[in-house]
Amino acid sequence: MIPFFDLKKQYESIKAEIDGATRRVYASGWFILGPETEAFEQEFADYIGVKYGVGVNSGTDALHLAIRALGIGKGDEVITVPNTAVATVAAIEMAGATPVLCDVRADSMNMDADSFAAAITSKTRAVIPVHLFGQAAELDAIIGIARQYRLAVIEDCAQAHGATYQEQRVGSFGDIACFSFYPTKNLGAYGDGGAVVTNDARLAERVKLLRQYGWRARYESEISGVNTRLDELQAALLRVKLKYLPAWTQARRERASLYTELLPNKRVHPPSEMTYGAHVYHLYVVQCDESAGASRDYLALFLKEREIGTAIHYPTPIHSQPAYQARAPIGSLPVAEKLAREILSLPLYPELALADIRAVAAALREFES
Ligand SMILES: *Cc1c(COP(=O)(O)O)cnc(C)c1O
Repeated sequence: MIPFFDLKKQYESIKAEIDGATRRVYASGWFILGPETEAFEQEFADYIGVKYGVGVNSGTDALHLAIRALGIGKGDEVITVPNTAVATVAAIEMAGATPVLCDVRADSMNMDADSFAAAITSKTRAVIPVHLFGQAAELDAIIGIARQYRLAVIEDCAQAHGATYQEQRVGSFGDIACFSFYPTKNLGAYGDGGAVVTNDARLAERVKLLRQYGWRARYESEISGVNTRLDELQAALLRVKLKYLPAWTQARRERASLYTELLPNKRVHPPSEMTYGAHVYHLYVVQCDESAGASRDYLALFLKEREIGTAIHYPTPIHSQPAYQARAPIGSLPVAEKLAREILSLPLYPELALADIRAVAAALREFES
């Protein structure tokens, strides 16, 4: 049995430190916005290569507050992609703005700069490129267009902790960037968590106000805000895990390259690694060529029968989901729609045994023969 992921192995490998950090927070008697959160915010900002980090309760809230901090809301349009976690679009709506979706590229599966440019209207205020599956979007082209139209750039880095674009970490390119520490992400908490990072002191300050009722001083709201804070406990555990992130990223990359080396690559294709940066393989996503008769759904079933767990990220593009179908006419986004039918995520995490990768690759060879 090869599960799609297994978070217990990672805990076992760092149990003493995690348990120690847990006890330290319990004994401190301080649970909300204290020294652990402050330390983690700085350590994480340093890791990404930006000046400021602000911890919040989730990646969704990180996006929501980033949009609000930029002064974007009702009547404003924000462009993003349809093949992301629904959270990206939900956050735009939480801020009161209108999501507009553009298509993605067939190779990187990330935002297509031409499709983004075509979606810009007089109401567009920002673009959210998503670094999907752990690989940077084409930032040069996207940021170039955004600058030309004076649009804010909000990076959705929820799947790309440590991924690079031209040797610089994602999260340091846009005006502001958002991370999730959902347990299965490359840097995952033991519960919900997220962060906003930026080089802009004013934006960081604004996110800090927004995350706690708009308070600068306690009990006095300077602006109207919400409650979305990173717990001291989660921050303490994330500080432990951040130290291991480079090694875990390396382990993910090694496992991904072993898959790519072993897969037969006939009708089921390994992911394309773009030459402009380093992929951190949040997910290892293969593509079944339906025109060559490779059915993704059949492959998923074939692997399930061999006790190999898989998942689909994501089975239905956002514009085709019931909640969003009736929105403004987005029209067809053919590349995203085709990808949704063809992609399948294989098991990949730092602790995954190499023997398990060989077993999955052997099953793929059987499927392809
Ligand atoms: C996970 C994820 C989010 C949301 O993060 P949460 O912490 O679950 O709220 C946003 N965008 C993308 C691309 C994600 O993968």
